Amino acid sequence: MLAANSETAAIDHFVSPPEGETEASSGPDDRMKLSYAAEETPSLAAGAFDMVVKLGDSKVNVYRYRDPDTGKTGYFDAEGYRLGQYLLRNPVPDGRRTSGFGNRRHPVLGYSRMHAAVDWAAPVGTPIYAAADGVVTFSGKHGGEGRMTVIDHGHGCETAYSHQSRFADGIKAGVKVRQGEVIGYVGQSGLATGPHLHYAVSVNGRKVDPMKVHFVREGRLSGTALAKFEKAVAADGGNHAAAAGV
Ligand SMILES: [Zn+2]
Repeated sequence: MLAANSETAAIDHFVSPPEGETEASSGPDDRMKLSYAAEETPSLAAGAFDMVVKLGDSKVNVYRYRDPDTGKTGYFDAEGYRLGQYLLRNPVPDGRRTSGFGNRRHPVLGYSRMHAAVDWAAPVGTPIYAAADGVVTFSGKHGGEGRMTVIDHGHGCETAYSHQSRFADGIKAGVKVRQGEVIGYVGQSGLATGPHLHYAVSVNGRKVDPMKVHFVREGRLSGTALAKFEKAVAADGGNHAAAAGV
């Protein structure tokens, strides 16, 4: 059987919400659910198990696995990528989602175009949290996006926060931030009909839907280690956690 604190340890690995904001930073429809197989997964070797990380209707199979090359245990997705922090889907805890990822008619420009972000409406001055640990690469005015901050989380993962009323003290290019740290405040600078955060996530330069589950992928198993892992995952079928009631 798994240790009773396995779930807590896994959540701590992926998320470090601001102190006292555990509930708020998760938001009403953004609760992280981890489900485990009741028994350790035999095909994944001793001490390994699979789980499903579920957020709303988006889910990812995650495997706790000991890399036979380094001897280090980590969390991996089905493709063998080592998973770091989970990106907060709602950097404005009490925000109201007013526009999702996809094509829509632009409220200001009046024509249809791709909205490669999610909009979270909230009163002017509402704090905005960094989605994960990273380094600020831009903080300034950026055309229709108004006051915008860009954070590089490493490994090709980037988040951007637009239409801010102001930046938090000390937030400028080159500064390190932690997940859950306040980086600025909601506003309607640039092309905006009302105060909201326009929140964009990119992976390797491509905009992705921020509402889907995204982890910072910290590198991939390779060679025989990857082959062994893939074989173990195939043998497991990813059904252990599913059978446990996900
Ligand atoms: Zn937007």
